[in-house]
Amino acid sequence: MTTAFVPRINGVVSTVVPSWDELAARILENEPLTREQGLAVLETPDHDLLRLLNAAYDVRRFYFGNTVQLYYLMNVKSGLCPEDCNYCSQSKLSTAAIPKYQMLSTEELVAGAKRAYDSKACTFCIVASGRGPSDRELDSVIDAVREIKDNFSIRVCACLGILKPGQAQRLQEAGVDRYNHNLNTSEEFHKNIVSTHTYEDRVRTITDVADIGISPCCGGIVGMGESDDDIVSLAFALRDLQIQSIPVNFYHPVPGTPLYGTWTLDPRKCLKVLALFRFANPSREIRIAGGRELHLGSMQPLGLYAANSIFVSDYLTTKGQSAEDDYKMINDMGFAIAAAPKA
Ligand code: SF4
Repeated sequence: MTTAFVPRINGVVSTVVPSWDELAARILENEPLTREQGLAVLETPDHDLLRLLNAAYDVRRFYFGNTVQLYYLMNVKSGLCPEDCNYCSQSKLSTAAIPKYQMLSTEELVAGAKRAYDSKACTFCIVASGRGPSDRELDSVIDAVREIKDNFSIRVCACLGILKPGQAQRLQEAGVDRYNHNLNTSEEFHKNIVSTHTYEDRVRTITDVADIGISPCCGGIVGMGESDDDIVSLAFALRDLQIQSIPVNFYHPVPGTPLYGTWTLDPRKCLKVLALFRFANPSREIRIAGGRELHLGSMQPLGLYAANSIFVSDYLTTKGQSAEDDYKMINDMGFAIAAAPKA
């Protein structure tokens, strides 16, 4: 007798999908995930988790095979931010004991790119705290990007906040391949996590960089007290914006941040979230970002059956596991590190 899983929503048998395998097949035929299906993914009973992941893996393997893209982050300006994002250890509200420094020098950024390259990363992410870059800060990033592109076969992604008119164009001319600006959460929940800028500000930044031809990188943070409906809304908003590269962060509570104490995730839920993002954005890079080690723990490898990318080494203000442990995990799975793009 077969025991094919029947997806349920709030305990009611779902008629929207006969099985997860069938859902994967439909998605591979370009049928978009519906909100009901997305909610069913997040409500998958734990005993059906492996069936769900197997279906997510079918989709992931179709577009990315068994390759894993490594990204390397460098926090080039830390803390001192005037914004009030209540999850962030660098905000004006945070009393977290983190390093605080102004924009690093061009030489330090280029040295960071070398470390990224040596770590087998395909992308070097230049991340600065703050609402947006001053022209002087932008000059320093631009000088570094020119030198990096002259010396390393590596993609460069800049994450500098809200850009002023003309700044995106200058970054593109310098060779920046990607610009990261996360939506962070759903439009409805956004007001619960920050008051100094709006969801619309974030969407505008993303559409502005896309309009001049920079590939947008945009994702979110899960585990800040939002509902499943909010998580599905985020995944769909990224689909509507046609985001190529989607980092999925799991909220890492840092003492001294206003949201500290919030803990809504477990490893199985994180895996369901990754499956949701894969189904909603089947051909896009889905990256397990901050909070991977903290929230997935011993189940990290399973995340790569849905996601196709991770950060190697540390995050902005928290530590990641060693690059060697990441390489071993990828190797043990029979997966392979994706090659860096040609210069
Ligand atoms: S997330 Fe960015 S804008 Fe918000 S407080 Fe942190 S550094 Fe500032």
